[in-house]
Amino acid sequence: MSLTADSIEECAPANNSEPNMCYDVVIIGGGVAGLSAAIYAARDGFRTLVLEGEPISNVDAPGGALMLTANIENFPGFVQGEGMELISIIRTQAEEFGADIVEERAESLQLNTVHGKIHLVKTEDHEYRAKSIILATGAVARQLGIPGETELYGRGVSTCATCDGFFYQDKTVAVVGGGDTAVEDALFLTRYAKKVYLLPRKYELRASGPEAREILEHPKVEILWASEMESIIEAEETVAGIVYKQEGEVKDLVVDGLFVAIGRDPATGFLAGSPVETDDEGYIKTIDNSTRVVGDIPGVFAAGDAVDRVFRQAITSAGKAVEAELEARHYLLSPEKTPLKSPTVTN
Ligand code: NDP
Repeated sequence: MSLTADSIEECAPANNSEPNMCYDVVIIGGGVAGLSAAIYAARDGFRTLVLEGEPISNVDAPGGALMLTANIENFPGFVQGEGMELISIIRTQAEEFGADIVEERAESLQLNTVHGKIHLVKTEDHEYRAKSIILATGAVARQLGIPGETELYGRGVSTCATCDGFFYQDKTVAVVGGGDTAVEDALFLTRYAKKVYLLPRKYELRASGPEAREILEHPKVEILWASEMESIIEAEETVAGIVYKQEGEVKDLVVDGLFVAIGRDPATGFLAGSPVETDDEGYIKTIDNSTRVVGDIPGVFAAGDAVDRVFRQAITSAGKAVEAELEARHYLLSPEKTPLKSPTVTN
């Protein structure tokens, strides 16, 4: 895939020393969102680069959250398999359309710096020039940091009840956390598990609303109030139980699975100092129902878990990222650069 002469003139450094560093679309993030956008962008004939990041922890791998999902069976067209298998298929599809995918992490952005419209994306080793950017860096589940957690991730320890709950038919599971996610996860798990323990670290739940009331009375749920996780017991390379402390007393409990639901942090730290606006928890703000980022930054779009704190599904991330590419395409091809309009919603 090559840039048009026009694009090179607009995008390349003045001495034209590194014309290959110019891209129509730079996608930051190589999870299901970023790679889905890459399929569309490369297939549209845009010179496309995906910065898939570099692993910095066991819950932050190139390929995103799906790399940590043991089994997927609700992604349309992918009947059943491991998350990493699905990512591999989507990645290959993007590459076959001509997307460049590199294992580099975006460290900072300089927006509209060249000719007032070309963006610079800096990694440790390179400085890429981009006519448009799609931010799809996802979110990283918080970890407890207790012994056994890292080793047993994907083998009894999970941060995604909707992904992995099905595998606990008639089993016993524990959910750590007291927020809306923990309560929703615990209720979701009652569909499968015969017993669900919820371990908030206080004597009250942070969660509010009907689910927080429902869980107090659910016959399958037992709440172990004010519990602090200590460690995970392993047997035959999977979770066999947990150790926790309650009122100073160390206790253990036999469980088949542990769901950690203590919040997630969007991977948006690298945006600090850029004009891309994030909310007080770090989620990227977008305009109305579009993927355009808030702020006067034409050509910059965002999708996936770095934006979405509600749906968080592979298919919704992929769909929103495709919307981002369609908006980027419109931006790149429309001479007047007017944004695509979302349909007006009326009640
Ligand atoms: P939250 O930050 O709301 O809650 C995190 C929970 O984990 C809290 O109970 C917190 O305890 C606990 N926690 C944090 N760190 C630790 C730790 N190290 N050990 C033990 N417990 C810990 O995260 P959520 O993911 O639940 O929710 C994120 C946002 O998404 C919230 O705004 C929530 O309302 C929203 N949401 C809304 C839903 C809905 O409306 N249907 C569904 C899911 C999420 P403590 O309370 O003591 O701080």
